[in-house]
Amino acid sequence: TYNFAAGPAVMPEPVINQIQRELPSLGGSGMSITEISHRSAAFTDIIERAEADLRALMDIPDDYAVLWMQGGGTGQFAAAPLNLATTHQRIALLDSGHWAVRAGDEATSLGFKVDVVGSTKADHYHTLPELAHPLTAGTYDYLHITTNNTIEGTAFHQLPATNGTTLVGDMSSNILAERYNVRDFGLIFAGAQKNLGPAGVTIVIVRRDLVHQVSHLPSMLNYQLFMDKHSLYNTPPVFAIYACGLVLQWLREQGGVDEMERRNREKSGRLYDFLDESKLFYNPVTSNARSLTNVPFMTGDADLDAQVIAACQAAGLMNLKGHRSVGGLRASLYNALPLAAVDALIDCLYHFEKDHA
Ligand code: PLP
Repeated sequence: TYNFAAGPAVMPEPVINQIQRELPSLGGSGMSITEISHRSAAFTDIIERAEADLRALMDIPDDYAVLWMQGGGTGQFAAAPLNLATTHQRIALLDSGHWAVRAGDEATSLGFKVDVVGSTKADHYHTLPELAHPLTAGTYDYLHITTNNTIEGTAFHQLPATNGTTLVGDMSSNILAERYNVRDFGLIFAGAQKNLGPAGVTIVIVRRDLVHQVSHLPSMLNYQLFMDKHSLYNTPPVFAIYACGLVLQWLREQGGVDEMERRNREKSGRLYDFLDESKLFYNPVTSNARSLTNVPFMTGDADLDAQVIAACQAAGLMNLKGHRSVGGLRASLYNALPLAAVDALIDCLYHFEKDHA
């Protein structure tokens, strides 16, 4: 079985096996990871090693803090403006699809002014937005982008020119799957459940000088508090952090982010090549905006799409139904999905096409 789910998503098989082995007794302690204190020496080792591995993998400089928070990407749609938009209470947003809109709506509902400074909505998000005008320095607390649009299947492989405005990146669906320079961002956040581990923990990477005391902030969204308390202000999601730690070790053993990007380019490239050649299937995204991790495609006929999904499922290719707003199919090709899965998918699509020619 291959799992093409958009998230929660496939995890590396050796990591799942290790979790299974270690679940009854962590390090011979006779206690499970789900039973130990977040203040124990064993968990301190786990969270410190996970942070060190994440720093090494993403080349995170010391003047950036790594926070392990809860509330998912959605929690960060609130936390980012509440912590960072304190000077102008105004943020700029590039509208590249569903999750960018959700981020903007959350900030608006909290009383911030959100200016959409570029949008490809009229183009059904098949391309990426550019800034309609250069940003004027000193106008916005930050510019929000979604580095990878999980639903629409686009990704910023090049970042917009911000003219000195702080850049905030929602990296939920391509963190560690593609190389970005952390220094280009003031804040990066990502829910763990796509490229990193199980749901329940959210990675926040924030430049320390942007973090400051903000009054009237819920503790669970407070960057200063989490930074001061090393993410242990309250009980963190112990199991999720442990599992992420194992995935981070696995990523380092595999060759790190550059190797992941190479594999993801190969996986997505094979699938895009097949789709571009196909007479039955197509991917609607402009080629230079295509995501390495989420590939939507369709036949243009909803009934036929449903038959394709059923045929794939019968072949052990799971969770290929597209998001309801786009329809068709979507193959998510995160780090833990092997190349063999993509080959199996292409094979299934090829035979379906041949049978329906
Ligand atoms: N941002 C992006 C790009 C996403 O793909 C998702 C979820 O799929 C979210 C944010 C929301 O994340 P969560 O469900 O962790 O709140």
